[in-house]
Amino acid sequence: MKEKNKDLIIAGNWKMNKTPKEAEKLINKLKTKNKNSACKIVLCVPFIDIPLATDLTQNTLISIGAQNCYFKKNGAYTGEISAEMLKEIGVEYVIIGHSERRIYFNETDEQINKKINSALNSGLKVIFCIGENLQERENNITEEKLIIQIKNALHKVDKSQIENIIIAYEPVWAIGSGKTPNKDELDHICQIIRNTVFNMGKILPEKISVLYGGSINSKNAKEILTLPNVDGGLIGGASLDIEEFLKIINCTAK
Ligand code: PEP
Repeated sequence: MKEKNKDLIIAGNWKMNKTPKEAEKLINKLKTKNKNSACKIVLCVPFIDIPLATDLTQNTLISIGAQNCYFKKNGAYTGEISAEMLKEIGVEYVIIGHSERRIYFNETDEQINKKINSALNSGLKVIFCIGENLQERENNITEEKLIIQIKNALHKVDKSQIENIIIAYEPVWAIGSGKTPNKDELDHICQIIRNTVFNMGKILPEKISVLYGGSINSKNAKEILTLPNVDGGLIGGASLDIEEFLKIINCTAK
């Protein structure tokens, strides 16, 4: 179960949306309209929006995240961006292992593990995504799948670094589909995720942050975000609409 009094995390994953001009408008509206200081807001924006986003959110409760990084520090890797580069321009978080990167860019557990280690060693916090696809769900191998993803990703991660990893449970079939797991099922899975990390001897279950992501909107947010084992949400589509995003943030008011 989550730690009592820990602030919930609401992270927006903008994916490949919002030009710098559009990003500026959205962030300014969020800054003026958000009255809830009881939740941690993270905006995971496209690389091109990062400098502007970090400037606009200085001295606010909003943190900026990237959506990917490469595991090498530097070198001849055309088109890639390292964790160290992100850190230097004020990024605090990075999403690693999102299912869209696994599916469209063939990212493997091994690469994800290297990226996690590189991000942590550069001082970034990691939002590490895991989740089963529809076929795995229908074959009742969800738990096995998640446990394998966690074990592969946390390989060689130092115990002292685990608190800098947030695990986002994102069933692939729920992303952008309007479907979500039922609340008992979801809470149970988030507990299994906590226990898996605990059983690896890494960290107390309540110290681990577990987010849910997949079709969260202003209507279902409260039910999901108040589950005992859910520490917040990773929000895709609904984070692009400021009014919808604000309603989700407001569901976390204490
Ligand atoms: C995501 O892709 O991280 C996500 C949660 O998307 P959506 O909220 O649109 O389902």
